[in-house]
Amino acid sequence: MEFTALNIVIYAAFCLCLGSAMTAYVVRTPKYEEYTWRKEAHQFLDIPFNESTPLGFHSGMSQCPNCHNKLKAYDLIPIFSYLITKGQCRYCHTKISIKYPLTELACLLSCLPLLMINLPLAPLMITTVIITTLIGISIIDWQHQWIPDHASLLILGLGLTLNLLLSEVALYQSVLGMLIGYLLIVSIRQIYLTLRKIEAIGLGDAKLLAALGAWQGLENLFYILFFASILGVLYAILNKQGRHQSMAFGPFLCASAFMTYFKTYLIY
Ligand SMILES: [Zn+2]
Repeated sequence: MEFTALNIVIYAAFCLCLGSAMTAYVVRTPKYEEYTWRKEAHQFLDIPFNESTPLGFHSGMSQCPNCHNKLKAYDLIPIFSYLITKGQCRYCHTKISIKYPLTELACLLSCLPLLMINLPLAPLMITTVIITTLIGISIIDWQHQWIPDHASLLILGLGLTLNLLLSEVALYQSVLGMLIGYLLIVSIRQIYLTLRKIEAIGLGDAKLLAALGAWQGLENLFYILFFASILGVLYAILNKQGRHQSMAFGPFLCASAFMTYFKTYLIY
């Protein structure tokens, strides 16, 4: 696809809108899921449960968490609304976290390099959604040490679609990447559970690696795991992380998948 200045602006706007949706996902999903888990636990134990339902990703327009005023469309323009209101709610002047525009900016800056790869429109759009989802997963896992299944499933579905319909990677590579990615992590987890009685790595990481394998294929799966391990070890050393301190592995898998994707398309 040929890129004119107008196309680049439209693409940047698309990335920012996806970034804005991802920001809502990152903020709302953990709260909603934790609420659901608490509710189910209370129901299971037959204890009354009176918490009000928090907004889910599916709950529509955003509202200020302090004054609960519904935000208008012009309050939700990615990055610009934050700059115009100087990072405050328009109604009650409560400070809005800088994380919101930073997440949108991260989505934009991570997706713009895709324009250097001469992708047709459909793969470009699908890959943009995948990369934006990787950012969402990284933030949620970093903050909550939990990877939402639906985010991994989205990458898995989009990865398989890319390879099935648009042959970015041979389909057998994609299916093998998915299966071996899942089995690798589950095996490591099982070995640690059996021998040392500790949960060394979560099933969320297994589902995420399966999704990344489905997207980038078996060959790249090993690069993803290799780079992620190096990044994880470097972080642990620099951060003086103790052996028994838990650490999210999802962000390293996501960063590594991002690097591996661009290594494949820009270096070769
Ligand atoms: Zn407010």
